[in-house]
This record gives sequence, C-alpha cells and structure tokens, in this order.
Amino acid sequence: MTAPAVPITQDMLTLPRKPVEGSRTNLIGLTRDGLRDALIAAGTPERQAKMRAGQVWQWIYQKGVRDFEAMTNLAKPYRALLADHFEVSVPEVVRREVSSDGTRKYLLRIAGGHEVEAVYIPEEGRGTLCISSQVGCTLTCSFCHTGTQRLVRNLTPGEIVGQIMVARDDLGEWPAPGRNPKDETRLLSNIVLMGMGEPLYNFEAVRDAMKIAMDPEGISLSRRRITLSTSGVVPEIARTAAEIGCLLAVSFHATTDEVRDRLVPINKRWNIATLLDALRTYPKVSNSERITFEYVMLKDVNDSDEDARRLVKLIEGIPAKINLIPFNEWPGAPYERSSNNRIRAFADIVHKAGYASPIRTPRGEDIMAACGQLKSETERVRKSKRAAV
Ligand code: SF4
Repeated sequence: MTAPAVPITQDMLTLPRKPVEGSRTNLIGLTRDGLRDALIAAGTPERQAKMRAGQVWQWIYQKGVRDFEAMTNLAKPYRALLADHFEVSVPEVVRREVSSDGTRKYLLRIAGGHEVEAVYIPEEGRGTLCISSQVGCTLTCSFCHTGTQRLVRNLTPGEIVGQIMVARDDLGEWPAPGRNPKDETRLLSNIVLMGMGEPLYNFEAVRDAMKIAMDPEGISLSRRRITLSTSGVVPEIARTAAEIGCLLAVSFHATTDEVRDRLVPINKRWNIATLLDALRTYPKVSNSERITFEYVMLKDVNDSDEDARRLVKLIEGIPAKINLIPFNEWPGAPYERSSNNRIRAFADIVHKAGYASPIRTPRGEDIMAACGQLKSETERVRKSKRAAV
C-alpha cells in the first residue's frame, strides 16, 4: 500500500540548489538505502526520507513509471524537486529482433555509447530473460562469441536492472492497477545472468541489481527464479550464496582439465577439482536447488560416451542438472555442433546415472541469438556502411 502524500516543508524546497542541466542522477540501480540517501541529499527531510524512498521505489519498480509527474501520491512541488535532481532512465533499445519462435533479442545502448545484448525466451508457462553483466568479457572461452570481444567496462547496477525493465516495457508487463505483481503467470518470470560478461567479475553491481529485482515491493522475482552463470570464479562462489542467494549455473563444458583449459581458459587458474570443491560446499545446494552444469556440445571435442561417463563421475554427490546445449554456430566459429544422435546418446548416459539432462532447444537462430552475435553483426553493418560513404 502506498503512503499518503506528506506536506512539503520550506527546507525541502530550498536545499540544495537546482543541479546543472544534464547532471541528474539516475534513480534506477540505487539500492533502497542509496535511494533514501539521494533523496536526502536533494533536500528531502530525513524524517520523511524512508517513506519517500518507498513511494518512489514502488512507482519505478512496481508500476514501471518513469515520469515524476505521474507519481500522483507525491505533492506537486515534491515531484518538481525530484525532476530537478533525478531521472529514471533505462538503456536505449538500438535494435530489437523477434524470432519466428517468439525469442526477442535486444541490442541496448548504455552510457558512453556502448552496446550490450539481452534475450527474452518465451516458454510454456514461463519466460526467461538472459541479461548481460559486462560490455565484452575479459575471459576468452573459445566457443563463445562474446569471448572474441574485448572487455570495455562493467555494467552499473542500473544498466543491469535496466535490461529487465526494458524487456518488461516491451512485453507490456507492468501490472495494471489491482493486479498482483507476484502473479505466477507473468511473461517474464525468470532471469539468467548468462549474457555478455562474467557476472562474478562484476560482483557488487550484479548483487545490487538482483536485490532490486528480488525486492517484494518492486519487480518481485523470487531468488529461486534467478540463476547466475559463472565460468568458475571460485573465490566468489560462496559469496554468491551468502549475498545474493540465487541459483547457480556453471559453464562446465569439459571433463578433463586439458580440454577445459582450451574451452574455458579460466580453468588454468581454478581447475576442475578446485571448482567442484567450491560447488560441493555451495551452502544452498539441495535437491530443490540443484546446480546447473552448462555443457555445450561440440563435435569431436567433448561429446563422446567417455566424456559423458567421466562427467557423471566427476559430479557425483552434487545435486545437479546437466543442460546440454547444441552449439549455436556463428560465422568463423572454430567448432561445429554435435549431431542430434550424439547429443541424445550423451544425454542418455547422464540421465541413466540419475541426473536430469535436458537438451536445450536452439532458440532464435534466425535472429543471431548466440551471445554477442547481434552486437558484432550490427557493428559490421555500421562499418560497411561507413566504408561505402
Ligand atoms: S562464456 Fe561467458 S565468461 Fe566465457 S567468454 Fe563468453 S561471456 Fe565471457
């Protein structure tokens, strides 16, 4: 329930002065405490700040409102004060592609003119948004298209949570008055941090953004509907459980250090045994909160029966699900996708060992849904247009 409007006092209107044009702080991405502090710094009396922060928070994250003028339970002069100091802005959609299977891919522009991708995948009774945490990536996983793009910078919490807000805008999913925002029939019901970047190399921003996404007075996604995928940044794994509490996925992809060193080079720093030790002690691991092992199926590289048998032996004792991912080929990729028969044979061995081994259906192939591909393609087209001028 939203609190009633409180009268505006003189001190609220006089302190501090109106900021210079263009220097407004974006409220998206501030934690609740950060929002409260920002409101106080803009002149909101301390005794009102918590309530004001709650009101503004609900307008932004529960109702999807970006214009202070529409925040009608705030008195008009206070709305003007907010507009003088703040903005509520999300990344700009540069390109939006909708696949024949309903997958939506967004190329988003963020501060500095950089671009990142987010992909929405509709499924029966749910919808998952795959979001990015960095522009490019420091890691160079050899099967990953983003791995071919150098790291430009980390995303801010606002740019991470902004991707969710853009997708909700596009899906028309801000709740109408009276609709329960926790409604399980939502179109965007799950988040996976599996887009561009290694989320655990941008830990604080990812944590703050996910806390905003989980806040019950806002986007209100359960922590069990958020999955963070890491390539295996071992020192941050326990912290993920303690400070975010979401589900965990690991880009595993190989069953020997020799092959994993090639596919996921961070393995040279934290090898398979070290990674599995960290996963075994992940505090929330239980049958209902299994760890997802992502395993991209690469022809003649990691897809043999022997690999499948080695995999189940390695993960013995860890409540796990193995996601088998047919490789989404991109131009110039150094690998080929395993045949359907090979993938099924691999899945069968894993399944018989007692692990769920779903084969991911390739989605959005007609819109370059492989991570990082839309960004590269858009840059290529821009360059060739420039060259043609
Ligand atoms: S798989 Fe993830 S960690 Fe590896 S290069 Fe791609 S974006 Fe980076």
